[in-house]
Amino acid sequence: MSLGEFDLIARYFQRPARRALLGSGDDCALLAVAPGMALATSTDMLVEGRHFLSTVRPERLGHKALAVNLSDLAACGANPLAFTLALAMPRVDEAFLDGFSRGLLALADAHGCELVGGDTTAGPLNVCITVFGEVPRDGALLRSGARAGDDVWVSGTLGDARLALEAFRGHLVLDGAALEASRAAMEQPQPRVALGLALRGIAHSAIDVSDGLLGDLSHILRLSGVGATLEVDAMPRSAVLAAQPLAVQRECALSGGDDYELVFTAAADRRDAVAAAARDAGVAVTRIGHIDAQEGVRCVDAQGRAVAQCFSSFDHFKS
Ligand code: ADP
Ligand code: MG
Repeated sequence: MSLGEFDLIARYFQRPARRALLGSGDDCALLAVAPGMALATSTDMLVEGRHFLSTVRPERLGHKALAVNLSDLAACGANPLAFTLALAMPRVDEAFLDGFSRGLLALADAHGCELVGGDTTAGPLNVCITVFGEVPRDGALLRSGARAGDDVWVSGTLGDARLALEAFRGHLVLDGAALEASRAAMEQPQPRVALGLALRGIAHSAIDVSDGLLGDLSHILRLSGVGATLEVDAMPRSAVLAAQPLAVQRECALSGGDDYELVFTAAADRRDAVAAAARDAGVAVTRIGHIDAQEGVRCVDAQGRAVAQCFSSFDHFKS
């Protein structure tokens, strides 16, 4: 590597510690959590060709690498504190590092989440982040808390990231503005951290949509021992997705991945509280169905008729 490893780290990734007791530069970083709080932690790795296309702008890649991790904290109702970055890249490319670190650190600053350490090595481009957050010891939003009778809610809109991916794969054609909008959804997802925090004490269960709504919701259902009825055409869709044929809309909204919206359940008598939480967080939420005692997922249309098509979510080892 032309620019030395330590100079590279110092130039692009080392920042003075703020809330951390000790940040990057020693053998370990030191973090403290407030009394009564638990440390929430999660890791997500992004591999070129699998989780992002080589055409992505470095700034957006930096943003996304952290966004997908913050999304996991959001789904737990945890407040972001800090993260570490393990980065492998084939060579030192300062234009890449400059854009990547700017996108990464801009999102970090927006969420008060400090970069406190990591590892840097030569190798195929690969970005692995571990985030740390804090959440009240008994107050985390879990996948296992859904109860029969709960409403099922989702934030934002679903399916745009998948729409962009299908366009890049040449499976469908989007005009310039539509491609740009769906591409931004795919490359720059907004983690719903404020919503996760606002839903503490209201939501019974939550998960973020990384592999597709049906697949991710099925984790809640399995771990909670319940089932669900979903109204397929109630899925919130962007204007771009809503302009597509109905089959494409359903496929993208129900089984597309990479949306990083929150799916959560809450008692039907907490609808006002959910609406207030969403308002405070500045995010739209939509009721898309309800939890049943009977296991399995039943998809219905707006008239309540069963929709036969069964979609599966993305499985990294299947395709
Ligand atoms: P070690 O030899 O203990 O593995 P390194 O030489 O890999 O430490 O890293 C030196 C310091 O730089 C450590 O504090 C580490 O956390 C930090 N660091 C390494 N890579 C990164 C990175 N990509 N971002 C932030 N800090 C990093
Ligand atoms: Mg190291």
